[in-house]
Amino acid sequence: MDLKNKSAIVTGSTSGIGQAIARGLAEKGANIVLNGFGDEADIEKQRVELEDTFGVKVLYSNADMRKPEEIRAMVELGINEFGGVDILVNNAGIQNVSPIEDFPDDKWNDIIDISLNSNFHTIKAAVPAMKEKGWGRIVNISSVHGLVASPYKSAYNAAKHGVIGLTKTVALELGEFGITCNAICPGSVNTPLMHKQLPGLAKTYNMSEEDAIKNVLLKAHAIKQQVTVTDIADTIVYLCSDSAKLITGSSITIDGGWTAQ
Ligand code: NAD
Repeated sequence: MDLKNKSAIVTGSTSGIGQAIARGLAEKGANIVLNGFGDEADIEKQRVELEDTFGVKVLYSNADMRKPEEIRAMVELGINEFGGVDILVNNAGIQNVSPIEDFPDDKWNDIIDISLNSNFHTIKAAVPAMKEKGWGRIVNISSVHGLVASPYKSAYNAAKHGVIGLTKTVALELGEFGITCNAICPGSVNTPLMHKQLPGLAKTYNMSEEDAIKNVLLKAHAIKQQVTVTDIADTIVYLCSDSAKLITGSSITIDGGWTAQ
């Protein structure tokens, strides 16, 4: 499959799952807009490495996914530099683990902004250019927590369930324009976001971090392995292929069987 002459924005692509998605799409020839936080030198290294390895153009936007005006500027950058945004992957996310009565208001707002509201703003800004071309692929990284809940993750569960509702709506509205919109629902993936929540989980469940992976994060996996970032990137590359043209409005689980029960 060839994504030459296509361009992709991948939010939160300076780490973890997003980084692998950007790499997977660049490998197939797509020009990329990277986004996310991190050390400036590390991000520049990632940008140049992708360009040199795959012969594509890679830009970086430091847009904060909590800020609609910065989100719009990021999409405009893609449109102005690459002549459109063909592939949009809404991936940026954070987590906070806390009982509802102690859940910090600012964490609630940040999670809803980054994991749900930003998807609305990127899609709204990117769709006119997709419609003009009569082709587009929108992929929203939800979670198993978009389908089922876990305790102590109220904001995350709420945002990720919301992403699935948004995904279905966008799929219905854009079907006639050659644009698909799907959600990916990973189980436990081995990334910095997963590692960052381990101290909170260990404290809340009163167990070691190692036991928290085994007894909390992988508890519901029928296959007792963490999902890899390339498992997710490969699925998104497939969604960009012609064979996936009729897959839209779906919530695709990559969860070791978590949501089968
Ligand atoms: P990660 O922490 O490795 O990466 C998160 C990315 O989002 C980083 O690039 C970070 O800089 C970026 N980001 C955070 N806040 C931002 C903001 N305000 N503006 C712009 N970028 C911002 O996490 P990950 O595990 O790779 O998670 C990626 C996505 O996958 C998230 O949406 C997450 O909810 C989802 N997910 C992760 C898991 C898991 O187990 N790791 C499981 C299911 C779903």
